[in-house]
Amino acid sequence: METKQLVHEIKQRIDLVDYVSREVNLQRSGKSLRGHCPHPNHRDTNPSFVVGPNRHGDLVASCFGCGKTSMDIIGYVQWRHNIDFSEAISLLANELGLEYEPAHPADTHSLLADIVSLGRQILRKSPTAMVYLTQKRCLSASVIEQAQLGFIDDGYAVVKSLRELGYSWRDLETVGFVSKQSRRCRFVNRILIPVWSQAGISAIAGRQLIDDGKYVRYLYTETQVPPVYSVGAWPSQKPLLLVEGLMDLLSAQTLGAKHSLALTSASTANHPALDDILQQYPFIYCLLHEDQAGEQALAALRARYPDRIVPVHLPLGYADLNDALAAGKDRQWLKTLLRGARTAQAS
Ligand SMILES: [Zn+2]
Repeated sequence: METKQLVHEIKQRIDLVDYVSREVNLQRSGKSLRGHCPHPNHRDTNPSFVVGPNRHGDLVASCFGCGKTSMDIIGYVQWRHNIDFSEAISLLANELGLEYEPAHPADTHSLLADIVSLGRQILRKSPTAMVYLTQKRCLSASVIEQAQLGFIDDGYAVVKSLRELGYSWRDLETVGFVSKQSRRCRFVNRILIPVWSQAGISAIAGRQLIDDGKYVRYLYTETQVPPVYSVGAWPSQKPLLLVEGLMDLLSAQTLGAKHSLALTSASTANHPALDDILQQYPFIYCLLHEDQAGEQALAALRARYPDRIVPVHLPLGYADLNDALAAGKDRQWLKTLLRGARTAQAS
């Protein structure tokens, strides 16, 4: 049986009060039941162990002496016997006479998709992150939706949800979602940006919500980050707008350039895999950062694809496309900019 289904069965069929009552003499106390803590490390003289409904109405166990709260049946068994999630599942499955095969390595694509989906749910409930995206970065709500942007505030909760979906610690470590030493989520307080290759979501980037100068602004899952990518589904063979970096790609989309791709960074302009991809587009507007690395990348691309590349430059004062968007530039402005670049190229 699959872990997800098994967790459901266990929660449905094993009553927390019955289970706890095997070793704790529970006495009614208001809406809850109270007794002495069963944990071997806690010599509980004053009954500080409680089973009662949480704010969602689900029964949970807590010991205020141990500082361990809101345990469901699986959490309780883990804590009580000091075992990990899959050992607890295995023990409880055994009680129900169910077969449990320990998890095999998860498919990376589905793990990334599940992280994206959890992140999206959190973003919708995180006003600070939404304000950052819509007001500081000026991205449109529809681009945020199409690009499937997300956010992580409480790393523990997200890791718990992923574990409940059946992913093992090893799965989470392999894609670099948690760190190997501490098993802490690496993406806390970061905007999640799914990075698409032609095959689908192949990595997730985490953008710091607040630049703290201490950690990197962007970090990625330890999966394949393609040299050129899209946000949302891959564009078809229309005139393409090629930009640099995730935020400029999201900005291009907000400015109406649906057929756009981004170089991971200026240095990927020389990546050999670019040939296969860029060959699909007969006509490529190329709008990179207005800095030395961007200039060099543009020159390299023009040298390699002389007939295809139309260089586009931002007006003076804008370092990148998101700067222009944040300064109030609109779709019409980008259209005019591209048209101008094409005319300049032709003459
Ligand atoms: Zn206790």
